[in-house]
Amino acid sequence: SIPLGFFGGIGAASKHGVLVKGGNYLEALNSVKTVVMDKTGTLTEGTFRVTDIVPAEDFSKEELLELAAYAESNSNHPIAVSILDAYEGKVDSTQLDNYQEIAGHGLKVTIADKEVLAGNYKLMKREGVTYLTPKQVGTVVHIAVAGQYAGYILIADRVKTDAKAAIRGLKSLGIEEVVMLTGDGQQVAESVATELGVDDYRAELLPQDKVAELEKLLKNRGKDKLLFVGDGINDAPVLARADIGVAMGGLGSDAAIEAADVVLMKDKPSNLIDAINVAKFTRRVVW
Ligand code: ADP
Ligand code: MG
Repeated sequence: SIPLGFFGGIGAASKHGVLVKGGNYLEALNSVKTVVMDKTGTLTEGTFRVTDIVPAEDFSKEELLELAAYAESNSNHPIAVSILDAYEGKVDSTQLDNYQEIAGHGLKVTIADKEVLAGNYKLMKREGVTYLTPKQVGTVVHIAVAGQYAGYILIADRVKTDAKAAIRGLKSLGIEEVVMLTGDGQQVAESVATELGVDDYRAELLPQDKVAELEKLLKNRGKDKLLFVGDGINDAPVLARADIGVAMGGLGSDAAIEAADVVLMKDKPSNLIDAINVAKFTRRVVW
């Protein structure tokens, strides 16, 4: 039977907006030494905005943004949302065909009978398109039409206001290692990792790479527990695999909330501190 104190602990956690799906997870929170965090939507807001539009020769800014908006119009990725926000015109969806979302790369869509690519440099490489490398740090969406490079759109995300304090707090609660995982580019990852003071990061990961990285970290954790926090966009399998899978409740998909052991209803990484504190307090009451 579950000691009564755990119910008290679960109730206390819920007052902080932390949903714990059982006493065993509350207990496990006491033994966490490794915290793995997804970047986009977990440490950052996950709401991008367009900061620069850089067309290649033969294209105007307007044309480039229009192509991007058409290509992204069927995607609900945060990148797509920002591009559609920036585009003032209307998308004529009768012009769209053969929509393909390529995980960790971007999109391939037929627009007015021409094949359009919208995604990162890996997509361009894969499709044999020569692209420009921006000097600015940011998430880059390259666009190509019928094999011709059309330019790139630079978009930026912001770190959550409590993210740095959350990492500092985790360290002071005895967490030995905080690792950030992301599908985003190396430069963006490095700048966020440095700003927030995480111990380590891995960038340019495909969804299956995130699982592989987690497996490695699980091997090294010994008897201690490993906790993963994500928003569930492309990371639901990682959530399920961690000792304690934590989902962001507001941003997270239903599938993520379902797969998670703990849900942070306020989407704030600092809520993890509350969860661990409640777990510590509950342990004192129960034992
Ligand atoms: P994260 O791990 O940061 O949540 P994702 O796995 O969702 O990132 O995406 C990884 C990368 O794939 C993005 O940074 C982007 O370069 C590219 N990408 C994914 N979806 C799209 C899209 N709809 N449009 C353009 N690029 C995309
Ligand atoms: Mg994500």
